[in-house]
Amino acid sequence: MSKSAARPGKIVCVGRNYSEHAKELGNEVPKEPLIFLKPPSSVISDGDAIRLPSLSDQVEHEAEIGVIIGATLSNASEAKARESIAAIIAVNDVTARDLQKTDGQWTRAKGFDTFCPLGEPASKFPALDSLTVVCRVNGKETQRGNSADMVFSIPMVLSYISRIMTLEPGDLVATGTPAGVSKLKDGDVVEVEILGVSKVSNPVRASNA
Ligand code: ZN
Repeated sequence: MSKSAARPGKIVCVGRNYSEHAKELGNEVPKEPLIFLKPPSSVISDGDAIRLPSLSDQVEHEAEIGVIIGATLSNASEAKARESIAAIIAVNDVTARDLQKTDGQWTRAKGFDTFCPLGEPASKFPALDSLTVVCRVNGKETQRGNSADMVFSIPMVLSYISRIMTLEPGDLVATGTPAGVSKLKDGDVVEVEILGVSKVSNPVRASNA
């Protein structure tokens, strides 16, 4: 990871939190939030290269609204969770889709180095249910979603996670991706923007190996 990126203590992600995205991958919308972890070692910053691992033939972008936690949250109400948000941040939950399917467990598919580009955190942001997240590949829009369309709202997701594991200051929660995920190739430039809030742009490069 680059020097400039602040490394979260942990990264908790939500899968299938927009019904159109669940549908495009042939999945049902879950009855409660489906959560998984990404390793902090996957974090890179704006401008750093996403490396395509040789183990995968299908690496895809996932534009997401990220939440940086500002206060310890354990068994928290939605109101408490809402108050604990320190910043909103653009996240690209880069995913090796082929390995996600073969493994069942998502650790490998979501965990490669460079698979978590993060923008600059913004402490000032619009209402939590009116955030728009967009993905562009080589300048062409591939994803657009609004937090109003999430299956589980941001405060609900934070409250839910806090009943499983304590969320600590500096932790990052990625709240799921809207429809339109697509495969990345060597030479692409992929950009995730939460409109008016935070943005991260990264070149895509073939594996070092
Ligand atoms: Zn995701």
